[in-house]
Amino acid sequence: MLDKLQQIETAALTALDAVQDEAALDAWRVRYLGRQSELMQVFSGLGQLSKEERPAVGRAANQVKVKLEAALDEKRAALKEAALERALREEKVDVTLPGRAPRRGRLHPSTQTLRRILGILGEMGFQVFTSREVELDEFNFQYLNFPPDHPAREMQDSFYVEAGERGDNPVLLRTHTSPGQIHAMRYYAAMNPDNPPPIRIALPGMCFRYEQITARSEVQFNQVEGLVVGENVTFSDLKGTLAEFARRMFGPQARVRFRASYFPFTEPSAEVDVECFVCGGKGCPVCKHSGWLEILGCGMVHPVVLQNGGYDPQRYTGFAFGMGPERQAMLRHKIEDIRYFWGNDIRFLKQF
Ligand SMILES: [Zn+2]
Repeated sequence: MLDKLQQIETAALTALDAVQDEAALDAWRVRYLGRQSELMQVFSGLGQLSKEERPAVGRAANQVKVKLEAALDEKRAALKEAALERALREEKVDVTLPGRAPRRGRLHPSTQTLRRILGILGEMGFQVFTSREVELDEFNFQYLNFPPDHPAREMQDSFYVEAGERGDNPVLLRTHTSPGQIHAMRYYAAMNPDNPPPIRIALPGMCFRYEQITARSEVQFNQVEGLVVGENVTFSDLKGTLAEFARRMFGPQARVRFRASYFPFTEPSAEVDVECFVCGGKGCPVCKHSGWLEILGCGMVHPVVLQNGGYDPQRYTGFAFGMGPERQAMLRHKIEDIRYFWGNDIRFLKQF
């Protein structure tokens, strides 16, 4: 019997050596220390042994049991240690691996052009003045010298917010940034009504027109307007300012030319062409082989508009100009369809 216990011990310890994981260890415990194990059967068979044999076999069986239990605990601890080491090895952070670069966002092409325009105007001493996108008819049209039945109002079909509820002064989405001229002049005039200060501001913002959406026209677009008011401001100042702006915006070689035009809020009015910045004036498809691109409208502020802004037209003169960042971005990047600007297509936007 003692020999048998020795065999049980040797077999169990040999088997334990081969155990590699928790599941195998559990199977080993059932096999060598479980109720059905050979060792336990020795214990339950003690009663059948002779009185002389019984104490020695019982003691020896107990020793084997204690030894196997100790070996089991030791193996379990060893397995745990090995698992921890493996985890440390496999989950180690390799600080020498190259990082994953975060994807960079981009500014919308309209915003980029808008900022470039405002940056240049800022260098030239213009301050940014923003005003509301929802306007009263009087600010959008009347104070700007569009009387209610003026034919020029037909030029701009508007989005009305409260059509018909405010008589001849309905609420609408502004069709241009020019109402900001009135807001700005009144703001500055209020500082010193008897002696209003000179003004040199840029008015950027979104404008809205009720139009058929096509490749060439959208219902919303940005505008940047410039307004200069002061004593002795002349048309030469306007020409000089826009020529300088064109050089800074489109390159030192860029020339401008003025063509007579008509706007209700300026007199005289002109449209400004800039020498094509794509071909340098030689002629290309972008400028339709004319060498010139039409990019600005401008003129001397109409006396009625000065008056409505709180500036005495007998004493003050001024000039204003307006341009569209989307149009400039389209020309610069040869974008053929204006609908891309508000289409939110990331494939389009990430090219800029
Ligand atoms: Zn060209």
